[in-house]
Amino acid sequence: MAKGLEKHQERLNQLNMLGRDLARRARSRCELCGASGTALSIHEVPPVPTEPDPDQCLFLCATCSGGMEKLSRSDFNHWRNLGDALWSETPAAQVMAVRILRALEPQCDWIPPMLEHLYLEPEVEEWIARAPVN
Ligand SMILES: [Zn+2]
Repeated sequence: MAKGLEKHQERLNQLNMLGRDLARRARSRCELCGASGTALSIHEVPPVPTEPDPDQCLFLCATCSGGMEKLSRSDFNHWRNLGDALWSETPAAQVMAVRILRALEPQCDWIPPMLEHLYLEPEVEEWIARAPVN
């Protein structure tokens, strides 16, 4: 048990070391919904690698960071802001945005038009398929 906790803390330390680079990339905005002026935290997009990789991390607001876990309880309107993330230059942001929107698609009639013209690189599609649930 204690060992697991230690490991968790070590992981957090490693992630925090990436924080500065991530903050620069995110420009103090949530990398999914674009929110600014809110607390942002590091979120690893699964499948999580052995060593933390900034390309698999996102700087997210609390709502986006809760992402898939809280989908059913979330305000659906929050996810309307994911349109820009679908076209993000950060593949991790595309991956997470697509996962969330595809999961909600059956319940929200505004989502299909957002996804209709989306073009994803094959590597991004492959990443999405590797861990469909966040
Ligand atoms: Zn957000």
